Amino acid sequence: MRKIFVCGNWKMNTDRAAAVELAVGTGAVAEGIEKVEVGACPPFVYLLPVAEALAGSNVALGAQNMYFEAKGAFTGEISAGMLLDVGCRYAIVGHSERRHVIGESDELINRKLRAAIAAGLGPILCVGELLKEREAGETEAVVSRHVTEGLKGVSAEDAACVVVAYEPVWAIGTGKTATPDQAEDVHKFIRGVLAGLYDDKTAAAVRIQYGGSVKPENAYELMSRPDIDGALVGGASLKADSFGEIIREAVRVCG
Ligand code: PEP
Repeated sequence: MRKIFVCGNWKMNTDRAAAVELAVGTGAVAEGIEKVEVGACPPFVYLLPVAEALAGSNVALGAQNMYFEAKGAFTGEISAGMLLDVGCRYAIVGHSERRHVIGESDELINRKLRAAIAAGLGPILCVGELLKEREAGETEAVVSRHVTEGLKGVSAEDAACVVVAYEPVWAIGTGKTATPDQAEDVHKFIRGVLAGLYDDKTAAAVRIQYGGSVKPENAYELMSRPDIDGALVGGASLKADSFGEIIREAVRVCG
């Protein structure tokens, strides 16, 4: 049974005071919630104060990115070990803003994902097509490539612990959400890709979040689909109230 996972991605938002306030609010809205896993990914520089603000809560701390090397002359980069050291349990890899704004390749993302697993961090592997790729009928090819290349060299046992986030790029931060049917179709397809790469048992174990303008009004419809196991939430995670409503919708999905 896959546990629904709702995770906030704060991106390059907040300052230290706002990050701590949001962490306190997020901890409060997640209090007592056991059926759903909740996470928050603040900017690197606020990980430590946010970790302190979340201490004793049931919100898992995550990072928005990481580097694959353990240490050394990699100016500006942060290792998986450093993230673990400040209390992270998860690290997002391959977010579309890193693929398309920063220019990260599938190969780099795969190295990060493998380094996260080796260090004991849970990777959240983001995959998803651009609008022009969807319009050209390339969604499945793109998503299949992201999943296959992202998981290259990863064993079935380790793959079962990876969280995949399907995030159609045209739906991120645009207010345009994929319809529950559109999202479910791709989630089901991703599970099929995982079954092909590994086996049915592994495919059934992997949690696949949806991301792209998730808000309280659409969260239930999306997460109640059989292959949608939670949400990676950008904008709506920046207010504890709206994030809390999404968490409550996830709890409602669990029945
Ligand atoms: C994201 O940052 O991963 C995301 C899905 O953002 P938003 O919810 O704002 O579309």
